[in-house]
Amino acid sequence: MRIISTVAAMQAQARRWQRAGVKIGFVPTMGYLHAGHLSLVRAARQRVGKTGVVVVSIYVNPTQFAPTEDLAKYPRDLKRDLKMCRAEGVDVVFTPSDGEMYPGRQNRQPATGNRQSFSTYVVEENLGRVMEGAARPTHFRGVTTVVAKLFNIVLPDVSVFGQKDFQQAAIIRRMAVDLNFPVEIIVAPTHREPDGLAMSSRNKYLDAEQRAQAVILFHALQAAKQAVTKKSVAAARLKKDLQTFITAAPVARLDYVEFFDPETLLPVAQVKRGTQMALAVYFGKTRLIDNAKL
Ligand code: AMP
Repeated sequence: MRIISTVAAMQAQARRWQRAGVKIGFVPTMGYLHAGHLSLVRAARQRVGKTGVVVVSIYVNPTQFAPTEDLAKYPRDLKRDLKMCRAEGVDVVFTPSDGEMYPGRQNRQPATGNRQSFSTYVVEENLGRVMEGAARPTHFRGVTTVVAKLFNIVLPDVSVFGQKDFQQAAIIRRMAVDLNFPVEIIVAPTHREPDGLAMSSRNKYLDAEQRAQAVILFHALQAAKQAVTKKSVAAARLKKDLQTFITAAPVARLDYVEFFDPETLLPVAQVKRGTQMALAVYFGKTRLIDNAKL
């Protein structure tokens, strides 16, 4: 496994592969890897086969964090990540620095007055307005920008994203179509802990009490599924019921629960089988998200 940390070297390698007809599978991550990330690596490998290559990027992207968020605290363990990637048969890990990705941009501020500094962003203007986009207004701009950059650096034929971040995957898919990135976007299922909690690097922040109650997100999805198996239910009614349901976990604080069309992400008034549900719940300062098709 090769570790590449400069944009120039990664792009040069990707171009060599392209010229040789080697298929490139790509899994972008922020590191602190878990079994969910590894399931994306396997999906990428499956797509490109033995003759293809799998690239994993590990980069905690500052532009997708608001100043109030957990950028500095975001969990990191590169040594462990590299070990996991090696064991999974990853060909290249791309680990750029902030200076490589955003030259001239310092202390999270878009640098002004410096012609050499980073000042171009990619913005999806429709799907990113609701849910995570409403709660975290600059988040998706950072995600689309870094993923567009990574696509231009890694030149993937296939890139795999997790259903865990349903809205993110929808936005990336949209971006790839709208901006004609020649890449196939694959969305892989959410990997869960045995009790149902969706795996997430942020689960590390939870103390024992919060961790025990964090399964409420999964239980809320299950409860909603149950509620609509035989009949449709008004979204407002179901939201109220779930709010009460989540309050049963004393350290949980609901941020939002939404019911929407999985294609358009537009909210629905009536929830039925096949409606997509997403929710965000705070445990102290830690904010967890989950979603499912009901
Ligand atoms: P992150 O490192 O959190 O930015 O995630 C990198 C990729 O892994 C994204 O496409 C996520 O949607 C995906 N991912 C995160 N958690 C899971 C999970 N539990 N199951 C499947 N994919 C996941």
